[in-house]
Amino acid sequence: MTTIHVAFSRKISKINNIMSNNKLSHENLNAENLVRHTTASGPYMRIIADQRRQTRNKIYKYIYYSSSPVSKSQIAYDLNYSLPTVHKNLSELLSAGLITVGDLQKSTGGRPPAVYVVVPNAGYALGIAVTANHLRFLLLDIKQNQISYKRLALDAINSLDIASKIDEELDKFITENKINPAKIIGVGITIPGVIDHERELVIFSPSMKLKNLALSEITKNIHYPVYIENDATAAGFAEWSALTREKDNHNFVFVYLLLENGIGGAIIINGKPWLGDTHKSAEFGHMCIHPGGLTCNCGKKGCLEAYCSAFRFTRDIGVNIENFFIALKDGNKEYAEIWDDVLSNLALAIHNLRLAFDTDIILGGFVSEYLNDFLLILKQRVSALNPFEENTDFIKIAKFPRRAGMIGAAWHFIDEFLSQV
Ligand SMILES: [Zn+2]
Repeated sequence: MTTIHVAFSRKISKINNIMSNNKLSHENLNAENLVRHTTASGPYMRIIADQRRQTRNKIYKYIYYSSSPVSKSQIAYDLNYSLPTVHKNLSELLSAGLITVGDLQKSTGGRPPAVYVVVPNAGYALGIAVTANHLRFLLLDIKQNQISYKRLALDAINSLDIASKIDEELDKFITENKINPAKIIGVGITIPGVIDHERELVIFSPSMKLKNLALSEITKNIHYPVYIENDATAAGFAEWSALTREKDNHNFVFVYLLLENGIGGAIIINGKPWLGDTHKSAEFGHMCIHPGGLTCNCGKKGCLEAYCSAFRFTRDIGVNIENFFIALKDGNKEYAEIWDDVLSNLALAIHNLRLAFDTDIILGGFVSEYLNDFLLILKQRVSALNPFEENTDFIKIAKFPRRAGMIGAAWHFIDEFLSQV
C-alpha cells in the first residue's frame, strides 16, 4: 500500500470517526458500508443511501456557505426540498453536533423562525509551513476561523530531523491550544519546493536544499491524516476556498501570483492545480521579463523574481516592508523610484499572464497587502500594455495575503470534511 493510500485511508477513517463521535448515522457516510449495502440488499439500497447522503450534504453545505443563519423554510425554498425532508436532515445534523440553532432573527411580529448555523468547532484542521529556517503552525476550525498561530525560528532543518521536529512541535501546539486530538481532521504541510504526488517525492527545494526526498520522510511521525503541497499551490487553494463562498458555481479558473521573498504561483482549475508535465507549472517568478537583466536567486538573469520580490526592499536596501511603505508615503525619493520600477514590472507580468491564460489574475503574498493603495496605477499600466482590452477588472488582490499556504493546506481537509457529511 502506498503512502498516499495509507494517508487516504487514515483520512477517511478519521473523518468517519468524527462523524461517529458526533453521532451522525454512519450508514450513509461510509463508502465500505455502501458497498456492503450493494451486496446485501442490492444496488437499489445503495442508490437510496447515496441520495439521502447527498441531500444531507447539500443542506449542510448550504448552511456552511450562508453568510447568515438560515431558517428551515429558506433552506427548503432555495434547495427545492420539502419541509419534512429539511426537518429530518436538520434533526440528524443537530444530533450529530454539526449544526446548532443560531441567534433568532428580528421579527416584525409573531414568533421568529428558528435559524441554523454550522458548529465551527465540530472539527479542526492544521496548516504547517516548513521553510529553511522556520516552522509555522496555524490552527483553523472547520469554518476557517484562525484559532491559533505560532512561528518558530529554527536552526537549518535538515532532511534527517525534519519529521521528528515537526511531530514534536505539532504535539506541543495541539496541547497548548487544548484541542482534543480526536477532533483533528488533518494536517496540511507546505514546502517551498516541487512535489511529485505520484512518486511521493519532494523533487527539489532549492531554499531547503532538498532533492528527491520521500514525502514519508517528512510525515512518518505524524499521527493524523496528512497532506503535503507546494507552498504557492496551497496558497492558491486558500483563494479558491474564499471564492467558493462567493460563487454558486464552483467551476472556475484563475491564476494566482504569490509575491513574497520569492515569487511563485498556481493555476487553479475548478479547485485543482494545473501541475504541468513535470510538476513545475506556474513558476512565474522565473519568467524572463528582461533578457540579460538583473540576476535572479535562480542564477539566471532577468527573471520576474529579481524585479518584483520583497527582496527589492528587505535584502537590497535592508529595510523591512512595513518601514519601506511608511518612508514611501513620507516622500522618500529613492524608495519611490524602486517602487515605481516594481509596479511597472509587475504590470508587465500581469499583462503577459492575462494574454496567456485569459482569466482573473489574483495577486497574493505579503507584498499584495500593500498593493491596494496602488491598484489604480497598476491597472492603468496593465491597460496601457494590452492591445485587446481596456478593462482590468480581472486583476484582484488576494483575500488571504498572509498565511495563505497554511490556510490552503488545511483547506484540503476541510473541503474533504464538507464532502463527507
Ligand atoms: Zn529566476
